[in-house]
Amino acid sequence: MKYEKIRKQVLDAILEAVEMGLIKGTSGNIAVRDEVEDVIAITPSSIAYKTMKAEDIAIVDLNGKWIDGPYKPSSETPMHTAVLRARKDIKATVHTHGMFATIMAMDEEALQPTTPPQAEFAPVEIVPFIMPGSDDLADSVVSTLGVDGRAVMLKNHGMFCCGKTIKDAMAATIYTEEMATTAYYAKVLGNFKPLPEAAIVKMKELIAADKAV
Ligand SMILES: [Zn+2]
Repeated sequence: MKYEKIRKQVLDAILEAVEMGLIKGTSGNIAVRDEVEDVIAITPSSIAYKTMKAEDIAIVDLNGKWIDGPYKPSSETPMHTAVLRARKDIKATVHTHGMFATIMAMDEEALQPTTPPQAEFAPVEIVPFIMPGSDDLADSVVSTLGVDGRAVMLKNHGMFCCGKTIKDAMAATIYTEEMATTAYYAKVLGNFKPLPEAAIVKMKELIAADKAV
């Protein structure tokens, strides 16, 4: 099988996301860029994830052109390829419809962290509603992520996260959903208190220096 490593990384990550309840049905999609060749493995469109095999994962070039695999690449391919083109530090992208991130995306303010591990991915800004699969949505995700963003919420849709490895992109997804969940419940209870700004800055410094516990 060609591009076996990145295809397996996409498959393992999608199964993990299904297992964790972050992806239901055929919603959500994951992409991983090869470290040497300019190709991207991405989940195919409308194929059940639970029975998917590595060879079913589609391969596209950096512009989203379908180059290998039996099934059509995800309709959200433009969003993944736009981020992977714009950010040389990013090798993996994850888009899900996590329930709490989707709820908090209806808010007007960026999501703020409530615990130290969430700080790495904050703030999570909101991309306005734009039709899924469009180049306009892809451009808006790129500009909202900026030069070092790791996660954004998509209004009336879900979230989009990225990382320098698939493990990092999945961590951004898991912690963004956790950030949204804790913020949601705290706001319902009326006791929402985000992590102090100084702690966020300190945590980001420790993570950058690889000293976070
Ligand atoms: Zn979606």
